[in-house]
Amino acid sequence: MSNQRNNGPIALRISVTDRCQLRCLYCMGPEGVHKVTHREILSFEEIVRFVRALKVHFGLSKVRITGGEPLVRPGITKLVEMLTGEGIPDLALTTNGQQLGRMAAQLKQAGLQRINMSLDSLHADTYRRLTRGGELQCSLDGLEAALHYGLAPVKLNTIVLRGINSAELTDMVRFGLEHGCEVRFLELMPIGPAADYSDDWFVSSAEVLAKLAEDFELTPSDVQPGSSSRNYLAKDGQGRTGIVGIISSRTDAFCGQCRRLRLTATGKLVGCLARPEGYNVRSLLQADHDLDSSQLLEAIRRALDLKQKERCFSRTTLMVETGG
Ligand code: SAM
Ligand code: SF4
Repeated sequence: MSNQRNNGPIALRISVTDRCQLRCLYCMGPEGVHKVTHREILSFEEIVRFVRALKVHFGLSKVRITGGEPLVRPGITKLVEMLTGEGIPDLALTTNGQQLGRMAAQLKQAGLQRINMSLDSLHADTYRRLTRGGELQCSLDGLEAALHYGLAPVKLNTIVLRGINSAELTDMVRFGLEHGCEVRFLELMPIGPAADYSDDWFVSSAEVLAKLAEDFELTPSDVQPGSSSRNYLAKDGQGRTGIVGIISSRTDAFCGQCRRLRLTATGKLVGCLARPEGYNVRSLLQADHDLDSSQLLEAIRRALDLKQKERCFSRTTLMVETGG
């Protein structure tokens, strides 16, 4: 018996690779991830077939391309072009921004609508330490290019980590106001490598809001249906305003309204980010397979049934595999 709690269209996240040129402390170990081979990952054609089936049979509100780092997958612009051809209402991509400076123009041309960029520090040395080698300036160049080519609205995602970037909250919001970007503060989830450090690093959304309220006038603003972010209009002393999003994955999980599905790079369909279980649909996406097959539709329904009533994290989940 299905426990699907609502029937709105689905927001799909597609992880196109589990590889990344960075090694963020909370996301990967220094050795990176066990690399899957090219033969094991879904082809662009298989991804598009899945998207088509989902759109026709379940409805699709948005598609977000993620990873790993999606911009390291060769030919990613081609996938964007193919998905654009499918008429996705909201096509976005999440990136660390390291290669965005030289790819923003072609991504825009291929039909990408907007990006979310992870930006955990505005200090080059903290950024380098946190990402184990990333160059802040590359991401800043990427942001500039994204704004220049209209990949907007750009949302900047910051995971707040005590003792690492927790003193930068006000600076991050000011940076957002100056650049016309929404800044979103995320609670650390105790999954993957973060599970070992989460008690030391974790900062709650309540603490973030209390700190921001010292420096900005915060007014709650409308919540987008299905969004995981509680938004506030932040006004600084000079009267500048911008949106600040608060994502409380741990203290105020939004499981009840969740209509997200995740497709991993190897074709596993995951219904809940906090749980490692899923159904591999790769064999059902081969060119000679009937996309209306009851097997594929049943796998999608079963993945949706994996959603939880209350979030309970499994430390064996890896964001790079599941697609953050
Ligand atoms: N490489 C891209 C990037 O960093 O934006 C896309 C993939 S990354 C896995 C997607 C998002 O997951 C990033 O914003 C990252 O900060 C977030 N993330 C990774 N591990 C996390 C954790 N343990 N808790 C909360 N967010 C996490
Ligand atoms: Fe790479 Fe993104 Fe994970 Fe950082 S959070 S290691 S950039 S996949």
